[in-house]
Amino acid sequence: MTDSSSPPRRAIVIAVGSELLTPLRADTNSLFVTARLNELGIEVVAKLIVGDRRDDLAAAIRENLGRADLLVLTGGLGPTDDDVTRQAVSDALGLTLREDPAIVERIRARFARRGLEMPEVNRVQGQVLAGASVLANPNGTAPGQWIERAGRRVVLLPGPPREMQPMLVAALDERLAPLCGSARVYRRVIGIAGRTESEVEEVAQPIYSTWAAWAPPVSTSILAAPGQIELHLSVRTSSEDEGKVVLDRATAAMLPALGTDVFSDDGRSLEQVVGEMLRARFWRIATAESCTGGLVASRLTDVPGSSDYVERGVVCYSNLAKTELLGVSEESIRLHGAVSEEVGVAMAVGMRERAGVEVAVAVTGIAGPGGGSARKPVGTVVVAVAFPGGTRVRRFLFLGVRAQVKFQASQASLDMVRRAMEEFLPAPGA
Ligand code: ATP
Ligand code: MG
Repeated sequence: MTDSSSPPRRAIVIAVGSELLTPLRADTNSLFVTARLNELGIEVVAKLIVGDRRDDLAAAIRENLGRADLLVLTGGLGPTDDDVTRQAVSDALGLTLREDPAIVERIRARFARRGLEMPEVNRVQGQVLAGASVLANPNGTAPGQWIERAGRRVVLLPGPPREMQPMLVAALDERLAPLCGSARVYRRVIGIAGRTESEVEEVAQPIYSTWAAWAPPVSTSILAAPGQIELHLSVRTSSEDEGKVVLDRATAAMLPALGTDVFSDDGRSLEQVVGEMLRARFWRIATAESCTGGLVASRLTDVPGSSDYVERGVVCYSNLAKTELLGVSEESIRLHGAVSEEVGVAMAVGMRERAGVEVAVAVTGIAGPGGGSARKPVGTVVVAVAFPGGTRVRRFLFLGVRAQVKFQASQASLDMVRRAMEEFLPAPGA
């Protein structure tokens, strides 16, 4: 067991809230808590979600306190009957609750600033567990609480992320960071497009498996995100420089094996990378989208400053739109079908000419669930790029429901633009 001067090693996060047990709300607080704890070298060994029931929560606290030396609870600090975290901790640890008049006054003043009178129910938010330190809440009414007992720590945080996050950061900075020494976890994400998880694993595993023997060791995990695979590298060290050097070395060992399928090695998204490549070339882009309904343009314009290189985009869903807006010939559509390499290229070339831009990308496909055929099943997507190096076109077959097909099609579109640019004119300094 640890004492109060040694840092916790094993943490358990409990998200409190019955809404988190419905399909309507996901617990994201624990992700933030985990990230902050990991930075201090504290491992999260379990997470759980408990509804707003005092008995259930008290039982969960009792059980888990035996397995970890840090318990972080989020939610259930509000003023209403379904906010039971304070009482449950009181039950589980046998700590009495007492109203702190100073907290009640602060809450009253907070209401008064908005010209409101504090409802009496809010008084319960001033109840403090015996021996707990109070964590200020500059962004809401409920203060948090920090309890240390027999080398174990229990932390109560509010549920709303904008209240919870700054409170946690401040509490960790003040109470745990000084105990954790200067060791931190440094991370790097390598983003890969156009390969499956098992293909990446096959190439990457022999390389990253050797990193475990490095000093300090680099740990790697492989994650399949929609339309891309990510390699997450992390290293724990007390020197930021060393962290950077080691991650640089690992990244340099990995990149040649994955070649141009790597689109970023610093966590940037594909749309950011494409945007920066366009900017570096002083190129502008236009999009011609059928099955993605504007998603490619939407993603490109998610990036701040994208007006520098996004010229326009059209959603040309019908055959008429493809002929009217892009000059695709009716005959070509009749002959080859709207989802075909011929029509895809005609869309991209038409868009490029009409918009007067360097790059145009066109996407046409069958998102489903209807509209498929034996030759062109649901998920068939054609992407074409027209650029100063000519045209490129590819046919894909994506699996999944409509939204997944649309997203993967947008991903493939951005990735083909990236590859076209890379092949035509490598970025300066790349
Ligand atoms: P309040 O005073 O607002 O009632 P509280 O501490 O009681 O605060 P909850 O009632 O549990 O917190 O949650 C309030 C809101 O905070 C929820 O509706 C939800 O939007 C958000 N929230 C709570 N827990 C989580 C969580 N684990 N992940 C993400 N959001 C959460
Ligand atoms: Mg609440």
